[in-house]
Formats: sequence, C-alpha cells, structure tokens
Amino acid sequence: MFLELTGEQRLIQDTAREFAKAELDPIAATLDQEGDPPAFLANLRKLAELGFMGLNVKDEYGGAEAGVVAFSVAITEIARACASTAVTLSVNNMVCEVIQAAGSEAQKKAYIPKICSGEFSAGAFGLTETGAGSDPSGVATQAVLDGDQWVLNGSKIFITSAPYAGVFVVWAVTDRSVPKGKGISCFLVEGGTPGLVIGKEEHKTGQHASATNELLFEDCRIPKDALMGKLNDGFRIAVGELAGGRIGIGSLGLGVGLAAIDYATQYSTERTQFVQNISNFQAIQWMIADTYTELEAARLLLMNAAFKKEQGKPFAKEASMAKMYATEAANRACYKAVQMLGGYGYTVDFPVERYARDVRITAIYEGTNEIQRTIISRDILRGIV
Ligand SMILES: Cc1cc2nc3c(=O)[nH]c(=O)nc-3n(C[C@H](O)[C@H](O)[C@H](O)COP(=O)(O)OP(=O)(O)OC[C@H]3O[C@@H](n4cnc5c(N)ncnc54)[C@H](O)[C@@H]3O)c2cc1C
Repeated sequence: MFLELTGEQRLIQDTAREFAKAELDPIAATLDQEGDPPAFLANLRKLAELGFMGLNVKDEYGGAEAGVVAFSVAITEIARACASTAVTLSVNNMVCEVIQAAGSEAQKKAYIPKICSGEFSAGAFGLTETGAGSDPSGVATQAVLDGDQWVLNGSKIFITSAPYAGVFVVWAVTDRSVPKGKGISCFLVEGGTPGLVIGKEEHKTGQHASATNELLFEDCRIPKDALMGKLNDGFRIAVGELAGGRIGIGSLGLGVGLAAIDYATQYSTERTQFVQNISNFQAIQWMIADTYTELEAARLLLMNAAFKKEQGKPFAKEASMAKMYATEAANRACYKAVQMLGGYGYTVDFPVERYARDVRITAIYEGTNEIQRTIISRDILRGIV
C-alpha cells in the first residue's frame, strides 16, 4: 500500500492551490455577496488554460488525462477558495466524461475539446425535473422523432451553469410504452438552439456565483444524430455518470470543510478571552482534533474511491461512501468553525459563514445523502441476502 500522491498529482494539487490563492481567494467574498459574472467566467477560462476542465479526459479530446485522484485533489484545492468555481469544474468534468463514455466519435470531437479548452465556459448536465429528483426514472421531458430531427418538449430544474453552457446533456423519454426508466434516452443539445429556453435562476443559500436555472424545451428541434449512446439506454448512462460525479462533490465538500477549520484554528490562536487565547481551552482543542480527524478520514475515503475508478474497478459503493461521509464531515466542520468564531462567525466580515452556506448543498446534490445510504446498504445486503 502506498498512500502518497505521485509527482504529477502533487504538481496538479500545487498548481490548483496556487491558483486558488492568487485568483479565487481575493474575489470569493465579492462573488458571493455582490456577484461578478465576468470575473467568475474569466477564472474559468484561466482554469481551462491550465488544463483543469478535463482532468480525467483523454488527451486526444483535449483533456489532461491526469486521472481521478488528480481530479479529486484539484477540486478540493479550488473549493478551499471558491465552492462555486469548484462545482462548475466538477460538472464540466462530468459532462466531458459522459460524452467520452457514451458519445459517438463525432460527438466527442465536436464538444469535449470545446469544454476542455474553455471555448465553452461550461457544459451542463440536464437530468433533474420537478417530478424527477432523487428518482431520475421519473423524467417526463419528451423527445419525439420527426423525420431527421428529435423534437424536445418539457422542462428541467436546478441545472448548474445553464446560462453560460455551450452544450447540454439532456435526458428525455423516447418510449412511453415501457416501464418507468426503461424508455429514457440521452441527447446533446447545443446552447442557443431555438426552443431551448434558459428559465428562472434560483436564489440559493450559498454557492452564489454558480448559476442554477430552470431549462425549458419548447418544440426544441435537434438533429437525429444528437442522440447519445443507444436509444432508451439513457437511464443506465445517467446512473453510471452520477457515481463518478460523487467523487467530485465529496472532494468539493472536503475543500470547504478544510477552509473553514483552517480559518477557525488560526483565529483561535489570535482571539483572547479570559486573558488567554481561546485555543488554550479544551473545548476548542477538541473541536480542532475531531474536525481534522474526520476530514482526514474523508480524504482517505475519497482517495480510495478515486483510485478504484482510476483502476477501472467497481467504485459506485466507495464513491457513495466517500460523498456521504466527506460532505457530512465538511458540514460538521463548517458548523464548528462558526462556533469557534462565536458571534463574529455569524457575520459576513468573516468567511466561515459563507463556507457554512456553501457546504450545505453538498449533502443534497449529486444524489442526497439518504440516497447514498440506500446505494451503500443495497450493495452490502446484496452480498448477504
Ligand atoms: C444548487 C443545485 C445544483 C444542482 N445542479 C444540478 C445539475 O446540474 N443537474 C441536475 O440534473 N440536477 C442538479 N441538481 C438537482 C439535485 O441533484 C437534486 O436536487 C437532488 O438529487 C435531490 O432531488 P430533489 O431536490 O428533487 O429532492 P427529493 O428527491 O424531493 O428529496 C426530498 C427528500 O426526500 C428524501 N428522499 C427521496 N427519496 C428517498 C428514498 N428513496 N429514500 C430515502 N429518502 C428519500 C431525500 O433524501 C430528501 O431528503 C442541483 C440542485 C441544486 C440545489
């Protein structure tokens, strides 16, 4: 067993850390409080130039081909400074990976290089609908073949990066006569296609710089060859890709949790009460000890899942374990960080309140943690009963 990063993985981690410190940290609070979409998008372009948009994507499609472990450590470093940037990176990588796994050669060549190079600010993953959240088989958006075109009608909600995405991976029902989930297919829809309408933007608790929008399909016509993978195989494609995405979200949660406890620990060595630093109090020391221990456990779970995926081994249970544990540990870390700052932690003058808001969603998106528990226990019980 060798638990160290390779030279290349360390280099990627260092590059991400330096970029986060130099470019993301200084504007993260402004992005959160006031918003600055041009600055946010400019940083995405710079990250694309550094090769961060397709870390686990093949070189022939413009990716860095650096693997899943490198992807995980990079997301963590970016999230330490700006969770909104990290989620955009994570979704972009997921979109590239799903096209790489299920797309035709022409589709791979047409779209993946544009995301990796930054020509597209983002790609979007269009699965969730009002009736299809934890249960994606409930997708109701329809795709009907009309001559040499598919006609899409319906709507999606909560779609990350929708206003600036160059391409959307979209799931729609192509056969209504079969049981739920069996007649869903996957399509690629270019941004700006007539009939693809970017709907209402959600006003969220956190991750303010990352746009989350409704998507409407109003007789949206796309070419017949915009179908990705086999007809009616979309549900399998979605489930497979979500497992990989969970490593990204767990890594993101870990980054936010680390940022929070690093800040609070430093603060505890500077804040004086009862004529001494609050770091002298055992209550504070135990919060520090518990939090760093839990985040280290989270890191190891993430590395295990990432390594298994990289090796081509089954990794779905491990990804769910890592996502569930890391995001809950990170939520606890942010809660404790606010507590360690006392009243100051509850004000926007200190970053820990932003971390606490940004981290909350990590236990919800990419499959809620209740769904992760279902996946994990189903896998374990399958081996027993
Ligand atoms: C900021 C943000 C960004 C997002 N980005 C994207 C995106 O880019 N693309 C995309 O497709 N989606 C996206 N989503 C959607 C996200 O993945 C869903 O919100 C999530 O999967 C949960 O679905 P839901 O909100 O409908 O909750 P529901 O499914 O309604 O769940 C409500 C509650 O019921 C519980 N529950 C449901 N079913 C079960 C069960 N079987 N067992 C136990 N408990 C259960 C849940 O755990 C939860 O606590 C995003 C969401 C947000 C908020």
